[in-house]
Amino acid sequence: GLTGGIGSGKTAAADFLAERGATVIDADVESRALTAEGGEALPRIREAFGDGVFDENGLLNRRALGNLVFGDREKRLALEGILHPMIQHRMIKKIRQAGVEDVPFVFLSVPLLFETGMDALCDETWCLSLPVEEQIRRVMARDDMTREEAVARIESQMPLEEKCRRASLVIRTNRPIEATQAELAVLLRELRRRLG
Ligand code: ATP
Repeated sequence: GLTGGIGSGKTAAADFLAERGATVIDADVESRALTAEGGEALPRIREAFGDGVFDENGLLNRRALGNLVFGDREKRLALEGILHPMIQHRMIKKIRQAGVEDVPFVFLSVPLLFETGMDALCDETWCLSLPVEEQIRRVMARDDMTREEAVARIESQMPLEEKCRRASLVIRTNRPIEATQAELAVLLRELRRRLG
């Protein structure tokens, strides 16, 4: 299980591991597929949140939905209630498929790994970690958000230090990305030695 806070470097780490030939099953990819044009989750999202979170072409306005749910705990839980079971269903199908194909191990990249209990599916959990100020700065820069928007998203998750406390391994990402990648390369080699 690969996890961390928003903007802590999960995607960058998952991309690197995938480039090195590892199988990565990413909750964000599944979530986007479910909410892309014609996505399976859209009817239920429209039912729960109304037309206001869709644009004139019927596409989901992620920013509007984000601002709605990250400012209101009940709405966030309602959205999670729609999406999380669908995401988990799709991920479990992919895990089974990897098993059929004799893939020796897979990474589950899940921002809410501990919050959703999906860590129970994992033999090992790696948490990507950085100081919260750096996290805010990266989220603001990457997503062109105000400080308030970034903080609302960060505060909706389990505190990063709690995730790190629960994880089997903590990987720091407040350093040049090459340093994180070098550590990941060693860890991947070691996993292959053990499980490959
Ligand atoms: P989210 O949960 O929002 O999807 P994430 O955990 O997937 O976020 P990334 O998108 O991978 O985070 O990283 C956030 C930003 O930080 C990106 O702009 C990325 O290039 C940068 N970044 C990631 N890892 C590092 C690192 N080790 N050193 C420096 N910058 C990094």
